[in-house]
Amino acid sequence: MNERKIIGVVSGKGGVGKTSVTASLATLAQEDSMMKVMVLDCDVDAPNLAIILPPDNESKISKQDTYTTLKATFLENLCNNCKQCFDDHFCEFNALEWDSKNSIPKIDFLKCEGCGACKVLCPMHAFEINAVKSGEIISYKSEMGFPLIYGKTQLGSTTSGKLVSDAKEFVKNLEEYEECNLIFIDGPPGIGCPVIATLSNLDYVITICEPTPSGLHDLLRVIEVINQFNLPYGVLINKSDLQSPFQKPFSKHMSKANYEILGKIPYDLSIPKAMSFAKPVVQYEPNSEASIAIKEIYKNLKGKLWDES
Ligand code: SF4
Ligand code: SF4
Repeated sequence: MNERKIIGVVSGKGGVGKTSVTASLATLAQEDSMMKVMVLDCDVDAPNLAIILPPDNESKISKQDTYTTLKATFLENLCNNCKQCFDDHFCEFNALEWDSKNSIPKIDFLKCEGCGACKVLCPMHAFEINAVKSGEIISYKSEMGFPLIYGKTQLGSTTSGKLVSDAKEFVKNLEEYEECNLIFIDGPPGIGCPVIATLSNLDYVITICEPTPSGLHDLLRVIEVINQFNLPYGVLINKSDLQSPFQKPFSKHMSKANYEILGKIPYDLSIPKAMSFAKPVVQYEPNSEASIAIKEIYKNLKGKLWDES
């Protein structure tokens, strides 16, 4: 098990248990003497793995700012107050307002996409485009003993995919990286840019869904993206025994599609209880039905990663 494996945990739909599962799998890996584990939260628009896996009391918390978002800056000293930028509607994103009192344009920071049109069109070159802070990458040793790294997008940033890529690069410079053989990445929900950045260079993808119409719909979308990367993946069905009229069509689809099922977690109140105490369920209630299922999933995952490679 010398070869390092990087596992992404994704879902087309949010709120299906990605973070709970990632925290529990990482906790089990930490208890496994064969593993040196590292965890990365790439759900950069809503990172919350750190709530379940807080820093160890002694741990130093390091922060690194990222600057990948472009925004316009107005250079008042160059402006001749011609108002052309406003009257001729230079900005397709409606980020330029007119300050009548001072006869100058005002930039709405949140609306600005950094496209550069104002810079090109202003006859006095009174705009420039600059990189501004787009987020942070935070890292520490978690209470569980393994390093936790997460990206956090700055309000108004348009480059969360780039922040994911930066966070993935960041871990390679950590001391623990060389000796670690298992990295879990908690990915963002959906199929957009940050998901695509999460999926690059993975060894295996766990895709989580619930047996509901929207669960299946979004699973199919995320599988389409995973297939573009030609990555091996397994489906994890959360709340697998949910009493719902959709169970039959869902099961029919799953058996017809012939997906590799990595495991199933039954509906079990120990999961929301563990969440309310901000603990991985395998630590909070190790003998619950959900924890037993996750342990089986961990065993299956190890088999997929090493026995079959
Ligand atoms: S920013 Fe440029 S276009 Fe706008 S008022 Fe000033 S000089 Fe005119
Ligand atoms: S950079 Fe583009 S989006 Fe931003 S203010 Fe200028 S024209 Fe508008």
